[in-house]
Amino acid sequence: MSHIPTLADLGDVGGKRVLVRTDFNVPMDNGVITDDFRIRSALPTIEWLTSRGAHVVCASHLGRPKGKPDPKYSMDAVRARLAELAPGVELMENLRYNPGEEGNDPQFVASLIQGIDAYVDDAFGACHRAHASIVGPPRTLPSAMGLLMQREVEVLLGLRNNPKRPFVAVLGGAKISDKLGVVEALLNVVDALVIGGAMCFTFLVARGYPIGDSLWEPDQVETCKRLLADSASNGKTIHLPEDLVGLDAAGNFATFGVRLPDGAKGLDIGPGTAAAFSDVIMDARTVFWNGPMGMFEDPRFEAGTRTVAQAMADTKAFTVVGGGDSAAALAQFGLDHDVDHVSTGGGASLELLEYGDLPGLEALRAAPNA
Ligand code: ADP
Ligand code: MG
Repeated sequence: MSHIPTLADLGDVGGKRVLVRTDFNVPMDNGVITDDFRIRSALPTIEWLTSRGAHVVCASHLGRPKGKPDPKYSMDAVRARLAELAPGVELMENLRYNPGEEGNDPQFVASLIQGIDAYVDDAFGACHRAHASIVGPPRTLPSAMGLLMQREVEVLLGLRNNPKRPFVAVLGGAKISDKLGVVEALLNVVDALVIGGAMCFTFLVARGYPIGDSLWEPDQVETCKRLLADSASNGKTIHLPEDLVGLDAAGNFATFGVRLPDGAKGLDIGPGTAAAFSDVIMDARTVFWNGPMGMFEDPRFEAGTRTVAQAMADTKAFTVVGGGDSAAALAQFGLDHDVDHVSTGGGASLELLEYGDLPGLEALRAAPNA
């Protein structure tokens, strides 16, 4: 793969106006920022540039205003916080106020880069989208990835291209059809797959087990059957739950074996499964985790996710976590500082693992200074 330019490849930035595409899509409650992590995360790149004499203009999306101004998604609160953290740095209005952002309209790109001398992309979480602010500026401006993005790319491409083995991927969560492509791609690079969360039920159906009223996707059963057969013939192990926790037909909390009775709903992996998954993680040298093992938002069904999170924190393996809900679970257990890398991009991290590239990275590689 050819070179993706880094900040040093911008040359002398002194006196230049640099557009930095940041991911300031922060959680808000009634116009108040509830967590400024994403703003603070952009500071190393901003400081790298300002300390070398650049004038920084940031741009980000916030929420989904659907192509028109909407005060609910105004950048005012973000701009105020940014002014405290990085005085003198400008912030444009919400990129998604203009339909040209998501439509990748050349005229909108032209308006973004008017008076701008160089472009930096530090919005890893948006890099899997061919939006105007991601793919437009590098067509004409000297461009680079920021420090946050550089770390994401190093870690995730490192997993894909030369992981220390055994390499184990732990997958859960709810969006099985979104994630099956990743399962398939991961099977080519991992030594073992561990599957929990709602994702496991379509696999359990493929194995012929009754799953009661648990979440599953009927049209994905054939794909799961094929993945199970392929993994067996390629010497890869797919670990599925052997016990489950959930609600019985009367709606009471219950522990089950792998076969769920009629009307029962699996909402977490069982304690035996959690211990077995934890052992696999402890014995690995690289672990990638995406997707909670159960409905962890309900304390009755958090134990499986907590056990896996604790194993991620305790193992000597190099550990990477992707996915908004998985990262939230880790933070809820106070273990977010005990893994090696928490990706800031859920969809982007999965797509980079799946395809080995992203529209935003392709655009940077084709920049005039690359
Ligand atoms: P991530 O954001 O980490 O990629 P997902 O968005 O795919 O994860 O899935 C997270 C959601 O999956 C959580 O809200 C969790 O409650 C839900 N979930 C996990 N296991 C189950 C299950 N067995 N039944 C229903 N929902 C589940
Ligand atoms: Mg999610």
